[in-house]
Amino acid sequence: MPVSEFTPSPVEPAAERGDIRHDWSRAEVQALFDLPFNDLLFRAHGLHRQYFDPNQVQVSTLLSIKTGACPEDCAYCPQSTRYDTGLEPEKLMEVEKVLEQARAAKTSGATRFCMGAAWRSPKKRDMPYVVAMVKGVRELGLESCMTLGMLSEEQAAELAEAGLDYYNHNLDTSPEYYGDIITTRTYQDRLDTLGHVRKAGMKVCSGGIVGMGEAAGDRAGLLQQLANMPQHPESVPINMLVRVEGTPLAQEADMDPFDFIRTIAVARILMPASHVRLSAGREEMNEQMHALAYFAGANSIFYGEKLLTTPNPQANEDMALFARLGIAPEQRTVEAPPAATDPRFYDAAAGA
Ligand code: SF4
Repeated sequence: MPVSEFTPSPVEPAAERGDIRHDWSRAEVQALFDLPFNDLLFRAHGLHRQYFDPNQVQVSTLLSIKTGACPEDCAYCPQSTRYDTGLEPEKLMEVEKVLEQARAAKTSGATRFCMGAAWRSPKKRDMPYVVAMVKGVRELGLESCMTLGMLSEEQAAELAEAGLDYYNHNLDTSPEYYGDIITTRTYQDRLDTLGHVRKAGMKVCSGGIVGMGEAAGDRAGLLQQLANMPQHPESVPINMLVRVEGTPLAQEADMDPFDFIRTIAVARILMPASHVRLSAGREEMNEQMHALAYFAGANSIFYGEKLLTTPNPQANEDMALFARLGIAPEQRTVEAPPAATDPRFYDAAAGA
């Protein structure tokens, strides 16, 4: 594999250069989307090189620790109990089984292990188990991330105390389009959860989904919301809708792949120091589209054969493409905390 020749440019503090802003107007964001494609990519890639090695991509693995039977009505989601998608619900996994998967993910090159549960929010009885999972994953030297639905301030504090590095909670789309996609929780509910995560001192993973029939302006609206947070999310997943039979969005039209790349590029410009992640929908993206997304500023992927409940490119296909493009997985592990002292948490699983 070619060796990266990247040498970081002498970077002035970001705040002084004015790249990191929190006051984007909708018109400014829209103007970026409206740039000629090459101009947009040139600008995004230039900024990308100033903050990151363009030849490194962070690799995360995502495991569904509790699947299906979710009471929420997210129109894209096969895990909602409201849609008949044929998905078999599964209870919360046993802690040791989760840790087995985390060990396997580490062996295959992941540096971050994300665990997702299809809940409106975790119940009190679930918390000891998810806390044990976080501690176990960190003991393996992996960064930990969870997505468990809405969190109260207390729950966020408990997860932070356990050592959780990242919490994922997406805004999904613009505030204007949001009501067409979800009715069981509000935009403000989402912002409140993200506020609790920040207050507890965890890093934020938050992005959205495109290709859900939204207008171009809604993509600008989503990215404007993320970029104008007091602190940018450290990870910004950009998902492309996976159309699952039985969900209300199953018949959505194809999204123009260039509009997807534009979304990545604008996210990179608005949040230059954040990892922009290719998430759901990669199965439908060919190698050329992946390469273009990496050039536009995507520098993180979910890796593995399944993304919660939808297929993902085979892990070795990703590594083969990395090799052809001279990309290396970003190496970053956390220092393992002392071993857990309460072995009760490693026993049986809770019912979800
Ligand atoms: S996206 Fe999450 S909250 Fe919405 S239905 Fe699916 S599992 Fe539930």
